[in-house]
Amino acid sequence: MSMLEEVNLTIDEFEALRLADLEAYSQEEAANKMQVSRATFGRIVENARKKVVDALVSGKAILIEGGKFQIDNIVEFHCRKCKRQWKVSKLEIKNKKCPNCRDNTN
Ligand SMILES: [Zn+2]
Repeated sequence: MSMLEEVNLTIDEFEALRLADLEAYSQEEAANKMQVSRATFGRIVENARKKVVDALVSGKAILIEGGKFQIDNIVEFHCRKCKRQWKVSKLEIKNKKCPNCRDNTN
């Protein structure tokens, strides 16, 4: 199995992209939803877009990593140890133990 290069998106960045680009909220509305300033939201979403475009252009895998922000949607996690991927909801987001190898460090 060839290893793809990886781009790490934080949950904050993932949520910012979702709100801005998928749900099409204005930056102000999205910033309110994430309880950050509009300037901070702008930085987060700009970073996130750069990472996603980099992944698309360079054929890298996108990983979503832990962040301070909790979202109410399903998020996919990726185990650093055994590479297993799995999805968790908001309720389970604090429990990021890998269901396969029980590694806790992702
Ligand atoms: Zn694992």
